Amino acid sequence: TAKSHQLHVFFLPMMAPGHTIPMIDIARQFARNGAKATIISTPLNASHFSQTIERDRENGLEISITLIEFPCQEAGLPEGCENLSSTTTLEMSLTFYRAMDLLQQPVEKLLRENHPDAIVAGLFFWWADDVARNLGVPRLQFNGTGFFPMCIYNALRAHKPYENVDSEYEEFVVPGLPDEVKLTRRKLPEETKDEDKSPFAETVRKILLSQSKSLGIIMNSFYELEPAYARHYREVIGRKAWHVGPVSLFNKSNEGKAHRGMENSSGDDNCLSWLNSKKPNSVVYVCFGSMAIFSAAQLLEIAKGLESSGQEFIWVVREKTKDERSVDWLPDGFESRIQGRGLIINGWAPQVLILEHEAVGGFITHCGWNSVLEGVAAGVPMVTWPLSAEQFFNEKLVTEILKMGTPVGAQEWTKRTDDHREPIKGDDIEKAVVKLMVGEEGERMRIRARELGDMAKRAVEKGGSSDADLKSLMEEIRSYHL
Ligand code: UDP
Repeated sequence: TAKSHQLHVFFLPMMAPGHTIPMIDIARQFARNGAKATIISTPLNASHFSQTIERDRENGLEISITLIEFPCQEAGLPEGCENLSSTTTLEMSLTFYRAMDLLQQPVEKLLRENHPDAIVAGLFFWWADDVARNLGVPRLQFNGTGFFPMCIYNALRAHKPYENVDSEYEEFVVPGLPDEVKLTRRKLPEETKDEDKSPFAETVRKILLSQSKSLGIIMNSFYELEPAYARHYREVIGRKAWHVGPVSLFNKSNEGKAHRGMENSSGDDNCLSWLNSKKPNSVVYVCFGSMAIFSAAQLLEIAKGLESSGQEFIWVVREKTKDERSVDWLPDGFESRIQGRGLIINGWAPQVLILEHEAVGGFITHCGWNSVLEGVAAGVPMVTWPLSAEQFFNEKLVTEILKMGTPVGAQEWTKRTDDHREPIKGDDIEKAVVKLMVGEEGERMRIRARELGDMAKRAVEKGGSSDADLKSLMEEIRSYHL
């Protein structure tokens, strides 16, 4: 009968950490709720999370990875370039998107052989709806963002308010939203305001079409975070969605410690024991996600700002991504002056564990959606420093609607591979950090962040809003099996 049928759901995450990490979390949660979950990945990508999946299997979860080759050679990418985060130029990232298109046939073949009940695919796999239809199963989309940014995208497309301003920096109101949200043209992604100029325009059109054909979206969000926008998305825009997050909270092990894919364990202990020696709420955690590429000039200003703020900090730097730079961009004597007060992590940080540590009292973030949700889940207030994608929208949610963050003052969106911005000055970084870590305003933001963090934890508990939505999504998938 339909009730006793065990669901088998396939997950196809886009090859970028900000998509893969939350989707693995979601797959795992499906398995915890009794489904069989299979994650489709490529050899190099899977090597970053296969161990955690192995652990899940030892713990009795029916979750596994199925590998397909990534068509590097066929697409014209260097060998081993299986992740969008390894692309360093616009040309390379465009080629990467084309390579993802080439996965259609092998994925379709794989799915045919396995008879899944549903496919959850990342938004860039615009062809997944056709594949799902050929197989007669529902396709769900995962696009790694939340209701608020989705509502903004929708309003921008519907009303084009950016056409009525005289300059790139003149503010306009995004019409038709539950709150008054103001943006400038300079903060909008290129493909949103200048479609014909954007090399991604065609892909965006395909994604939008595919969105309208899919059963709906799985959101890494929770109702209490953005209730007006969760309703607006469903009732005014009229699209189906299930909010199941914050997904980072799915990973509590018995000891109460989070574990998840992509986190290397080698450096973990070091930074966590460093944090153990610090007072509650005394440390600022600085990280700009998995994709950002900074100029040496900007890194220098960050170093200056952190030093002059007088606060303790953990700073995650991936400065080798461009031009194989070494650490010689650091100010003279920086490392010896910050000894004991600041920790630089060169590479991948255990972000969720750091944010959850009681010593961490603030987060300088680029406002990637996962980082925002992880900060919310941990109850940590933020300095917002958006760079690209929909991050300038997310900043508005954090600072103006949730009131748990203060902007560093970033004004200019750019493509991640093409950063020609004037650096944000050390002085501005210092001011924002001090405002967050010292004084009454920061304390109010911290209280607000704690409240939201508590709501987040309740949402994923049994009977909470996200737990209920995940169960109802599974029921809906089951109804297609009848
Ligand atoms: N992340 C991490 N360690 C790092 C950098 C990033 O664990 O050193 C994780 C972070 O916790 C989040 C994801 O990578 O889950 C980044 O996603 P986000 O949406 O914040 O930003 P993106 O990388 O997509 O710009």
